[in-house]
This record gives sequence, structure tokens and C-alpha cells, in this order.
Amino acid sequence: MRGGIYTYHCPKCGACDQRFMWDVDADKQTCECGAPLRRSVPPSKQGFTPILCEALGVHPSQVAEHRRVHPDIPMTDDGRVVIRSYRENVRICKKLGFDPK
Ligand SMILES: [Zn+2]
Repeated sequence: MRGGIYTYHCPKCGACDQRFMWDVDADKQTCECGAPLRRSVPPSKQGFTPILCEALGVHPSQVAEHRRVHPDIPMTDDGRVVIRSYRENVRICKKLGFDPK
């Protein structure tokens, strides 16, 4: 895969979105709610851009439980899994019972 992924965060409704950097005008993204999205991770020219993965995450009320059961899987305070490399993505997906993409 060439290029990388930008992760966006909406300061208004809290939505999180990931878009491929070559698809779009990276600094002018808007959320479905109409607010301008903030790019939350700087683009990386080499390797893998860290992703905050909502699909693998848990409800914020379950974050403490997740950290107790899976201390080796980093998670944000709002319950999203932090994936920092492709290898980590595969490891985390397998551990949580998902098929790595
Ligand atoms: Zn929004």
C-alpha cells in the first residue's frame, strides 16, 4: 500500500474518521455534522501511521476492564485501540478475535 492514512477527529460531535492521504485535500476535511475535522495524527512518510481504531475498541466505561485484561493492547481514554504498526494490527486483531485486514 502506498501513501498512508490520516486520522481525523471532529471537535464538535466527537466522530473519528480515517482517510487515505492521496484521496483528498488533507487539510480541508469536514465532518458529516458540518464541522471542520481536525487531523489528529501527523502524516508519516515512512512506515505505518498510527491509527485509533474504534472498531476494535470498547465503550468508555469498559476501558478500565480492557486495560486489566489486555495490558499489552494500548487504548485511549475514550475506548479506542491504538495501532502503531501493521504487525501490531495483526497481533491485536487476532488477540481480540477479529480477522486482520
Ligand atoms: Zn462532527
